[in-house]
Amino acid sequence: MIRCIDVAADFEDSIAGKVHGGRRTWVAVKITALLPDAHALIKLSSHVLNTRPRLSIAFPGSPHPSDLNVLESGPTSAISAEDIAAIRDLHSDLIRICMRAQERGVKIIIDAEYSWYQPALDALTLSLMRRFNKLDSSETSKVQPLIYGTYQAYLQRTPGHLAQSFADAKANNYALGVKLVRGAYHPHEIAAHAGVSDKRSLSISPDPQPPVWMTKAETDQCYDACAKVLVKAIKDDLLSTGAPAPTVGVLFGTHNWASCGLILDELVDSGLAHKGERDQVVLSDDVTERLTIGQLYGMSDDLTNHLVHKTSSNTPLIIKYVPYGALSEVMPYLSRRAIENKSVLGDGGAVVERRRAGAEIRKRLFGGWFAK
Ligand SMILES: Cc1cc2nc3c(=O)[nH]c(=O)nc-3n(C[C@H](O)[C@H](O)[C@H](O)COP(=O)(O)OP(=O)(O)OC[C@H]3O[C@@H](n4cnc5c(N)ncnc54)[C@H](O)[C@@H]3O)c2cc1C
Repeated sequence: MIRCIDVAADFEDSIAGKVHGGRRTWVAVKITALLPDAHALIKLSSHVLNTRPRLSIAFPGSPHPSDLNVLESGPTSAISAEDIAAIRDLHSDLIRICMRAQERGVKIIIDAEYSWYQPALDALTLSLMRRFNKLDSSETSKVQPLIYGTYQAYLQRTPGHLAQSFADAKANNYALGVKLVRGAYHPHEIAAHAGVSDKRSLSISPDPQPPVWMTKAETDQCYDACAKVLVKAIKDDLLSTGAPAPTVGVLFGTHNWASCGLILDELVDSGLAHKGERDQVVLSDDVTERLTIGQLYGMSDDLTNHLVHKTSSNTPLIIKYVPYGALSEVMPYLSRRAIENKSVLGDGGAVVERRRAGAEIRKRLFGGWFAK
């Protein structure tokens, strides 16, 4: 991870002064890959669900600062000394990663995973945000927010969890970093919940209903509603005077054309962007400092290209999310993308994608006017 941060920072250093605006490379962290046995995180998740103060937010809830107290207080019947030692090591590794990111001015995103890991991942993310996204302190990072958590719109908890996150950030004076995605594990969540009485099921939800929405339309509606809340939060941040740095940063991760269209419309309607020549959506540096839209590398390049042409800004607004790591480590990620690509390429999508790829090859070989 440290090497990855250095590579990203070296790249940013190499273009400093040549391009306008701040540093735009991020490093994403998949926490379950950072410890020898991810089961320790499920134990921590169960422990915090049983011990944290109850809020009226659906499973897997929203983190509380007391969630990691068990790392100091020691083992219980639910979590062993070995598990605690593994999570302590993980926590100090994460702090080292964030310190390097702070030194080198590279943003960190904590990826979201299965719901049975989420209470533990949320607790770790909260502790990192409270420390590294702190505003008004001598240690304030020059890049803000430095740490981003991931919010999965397919979880029914997400609107409540997002509201609680904003309230905690405001009350404790730190910047909130939000990556909004729909969520990658829907079939697994349904299957695990259906087998909850089976000892082999990993689900830890106490609820009779699955934690995810049951229809795609509900997830879409949740994504778009949260997107509106986030655009409004950016607007409120820009209107409030006296903030030393952004108090909110948002990365929209999606391949959904309708959601991307809605985000651009919201930006224009709220006055954060305006329509320029050829109907382009023009964004100021203040807005792009707080907002990014991303697709996964190798997926939906037509959408990425469309967004790049549809928008105009001094600093890049549209990014690609690139897997980095040993092949054996990134294989589960790549196979999930292969399955996802199948659904993206259904309904004639494959024909469109083949045409787009053909046009791109012709353009690169023969130049612009052979492309069509
Ligand atoms: C930059 C980026 C970063 C990402 N990081 C993460 C991450 O950290 N963690 C993570 O979990 N995912 C992550 N993803 C993947 C993401 O969660 C989605 O799986 C993927 O992007 C497909 O959703 P979509 O918004 O692109 O569009 P769409 O193709 O419109 O939506 C597909 C999604 O809809 C939801 N869905 C499908 N069927 C149903 C149903 N029957 N009921 C309810 N909902 C349903 C699922 O979430 C499915 O993935 C990331 C994606 C991007 C682009």
